[in-house]
Formats: sequence, C-alpha cells, structure tokens
Amino acid sequence: MRYYNLYNYKRLPYIERLTAEEIHAIDVVARVFPFKVSEHTVSHLINWEKGCDDPMFRATFPHRDMLEPKDFQTIEQLLSQGASETAIAAAADEIRSRQNPDVSGQRALNVPTLHDSSLQGMQHKYRETLLVFPKEGQNCSTWCSFCFRWNQFVPGSCQRFSNVQPEEMLDYIKEHRDITDVLFTGGDPLMMRTGSLAKYILPLLSPEAAHIRNIRLGSRMLAWDPQRFISAPDSAALLELFRRIQGAERNLVLVAHWLHPSELQTPQTREACRILRQTGVQLSGQTPLLKGINDNADVLEELWREQTALGSIAYYMFIARDTGAHKYFEVPLIRAWKLYRDSVSRVSGLARSVRGPVMSCRPGKIIIDGPLTLGTESALALRYLQARKPELVGRPFLARFDDKATWWNDLKPYGASDEEFF
Ligand SMILES: *Cc1c(COP(=O)(O)O)cnc(C)c1O
Repeated sequence: MRYYNLYNYKRLPYIERLTAEEIHAIDVVARVFPFKVSEHTVSHLINWEKGCDDPMFRATFPHRDMLEPKDFQTIEQLLSQGASETAIAAAADEIRSRQNPDVSGQRALNVPTLHDSSLQGMQHKYRETLLVFPKEGQNCSTWCSFCFRWNQFVPGSCQRFSNVQPEEMLDYIKEHRDITDVLFTGGDPLMMRTGSLAKYILPLLSPEAAHIRNIRLGSRMLAWDPQRFISAPDSAALLELFRRIQGAERNLVLVAHWLHPSELQTPQTREACRILRQTGVQLSGQTPLLKGINDNADVLEELWREQTALGSIAYYMFIARDTGAHKYFEVPLIRAWKLYRDSVSRVSGLARSVRGPVMSCRPGKIIIDGPLTLGTESALALRYLQARKPELVGRPFLARFDDKATWWNDLKPYGASDEEFF
C-alpha cells in the first residue's frame, strides 16, 4: 500500500493548493509529530479545495498550531541553521517529553501478571475485557494527528507495547474466567496479514476459551484504507476468518472509528461495510470529539445517522485525551455535552445508541450526563461506565460546575459525598 510522509508528500499533486507558509509549517511540526497518510485518504477523503481547514486534512497532516510558538521556533531555527539530524531529534524529544506521552499511566497500571511475571503487550483494566496489542499490529495505514497513542509512532520510541505471544494470551485467559471480551488494538490489528491475525484469534475459538464470547477488532481501516477488505492480496482470507469466528459462536465486532461523515460517503467504504456485514461481523463505531474536525452538531448528527444506516452501531463519543497536541484539539466538557445533546436529539432511537461524552481516564470511563442547578449553585452530573473499582459503576455523582474544564483533572468534587469518586 502506498502512503505519504514528510519525505515524499511534496510529490502529491494536491500540495500546490497549499501556501508556502503552510508547507513550511508541515516541515517543522512533522519533526515533532510525524505523519503518515494513506493513498485513500489523500485521494478520496481530504477535500483539497478547503486546504488546511479541511477536517480530514487536520486529522492527518501536522498544523502549525499543534506546537507552542516557542517550540515551533526552536525547530524552525534548527532547520534553517542546517543543524544535524541528531540535534533536531534531541530538540523534538525534549518537546515531546512535555506532552504527557504516557497517557493515564497505562503502561504501568494496566499490565497483567501471570505466575508472578508481567505480561507486556496486554492491558487488563476492566474485569471483563482484555486488551491485546500484537506486535505486527502496532502501526496504522494513516496516523491520526490527535492519536492518544501518538508516541508509539515516534522514531526510536520506547512506547511501543512489547510483543505478546498467542500462547501467553491464551494462558492468561484460561486463568481468568471473568474475561468475556478480547479486544485487539494497536496501532491497528488489521495492519497484520490475515495469517498473523489468525494466530491470535483461532486460540480464542478453542473449548479452553469458551468463556470468551466477544472478539473485538479496534480498527480505522474502514475509513483510512477500505481496500483492505476488498482488494488486498489477503482480503478473501480475512473475510473467511471472520466467517469462521461467527461459525464458532463468538460475536466478532469490528469497532470502527469514525471522525466525519465524509468517510462514510466514499463508494469504497460503503462497499467494504456491505461485504463485512455479509460475513456476519457486527460493525460498531467510536468517535473522538475534536476541535476543527467534528465539533459541530450538524456534522455529528449526520455521523450518527449515516453510520446507523450502514449498519455500524454508534457506540462511544469520546473526549480527546490530555496528551500530544491536545490543546489544539480540545473541546470544553460543557460544550462537548451540548454538542452531544443537540446531535442526538435529532436522530432516531436506533442512532441514539451512541453514549457520550465519555472521558477514558485513569480511574475509568466517565460519562458526562450534563449540568444541573442545585439551589443557587450549578454542578455537573457524572457517572462511571467502567471503573477499576467496579463498585463505582453506574452511581451518579457531581463535580463543581466549570465551563472551562476540558479533562477529568480539571474537575473538583461538588460535595463531601462525591469525594470517593475522585
Ligand atoms: C475502553 C476500554 C475497554 C473497553 O471498555 P467497554 O466499555 O467494554 O467498551 C477495555 N479496556 C480499556 C483499558 C479501555 O480503555
């Protein structure tokens, strides 16, 4: 598959739509936040008439304001002085180290252990669901500019999850009968060839893993590279594997990741959804809310409605996590709630399956139910959908009203009885 990055993107004919200043900004910011864009994305998703303001452009190419002005200048000066690659890389490392690269402490807090040794390449945060990061799936066909695992893609990064072998995964599952769901994530697990993916999936169909009922694949292939399901050399084998999973009475869910309704308009994506549904796979969709990409009630309304029509069950609407170029993409929590409410109130009940806005943070997944007034004071009603401590799930609690807050860390308990939730 062909893709574009800092070293070849100027060959794209569309680049002449950008100004010299915009191209310069890409060259500078990409030193800190590298980018990679698939052929499908540049040819079918980005509307080049809109240039840098196009939502799909923002979702993929670096933008000047992703860096603080002083950090931008640092890299700009090094480039203009002809500094060595080592010096540029060191400056970029220093800038990245200030962008909360290990978000939510996931690398240390969620690692499972078996017989006293820790198993890298998996996360077990919520009792029922095991996250698996196969090594060959730790890349994507396009890198999202807002990705909360952005640091995996940085050159020389130590943030990749180590390899997990299928045997270790199965051993762990055999010892944990509470696990009902295995969620393959990455990167993108569908970057793996079908043969490699099958080595992880087939053990889950064995009688020893009868307690595994749902197998999820978290993937953006439907949007970034739908040909993966249509015309890749192993497309047919992939679809055959999907049929086999259904045959083994496991529910296979492809958790797609939708950003914008334009992704659902291309004939390739529509065809891929149709083919996938014929294999019996259930499609579902998650959406992070991002400034300048989809922070608009009309856009979200269309996203919920269109994906439902394509058979993708709208699942979570996430608040962007506090990492990387978060300042550039963040939407205040209150505004996020309004956008959710406005968009959801205009679609039929089937598309109201989407839950949000949700913050996936250190203690769990927290939904913002919205503001309310108590006497003369305002508060924000919240609820855990998932928690490290299962006893917190589903009980309403309050935070002090704060219309500037953009993340969980900004919120304070409303009263003494709310403290146990923080
Ligand atoms: C979101 C998430 C899950 C899946 O949670 P569901 O509510 O079942 O979709 C599992 N593990 C981690 C670490 C997560 O962040």
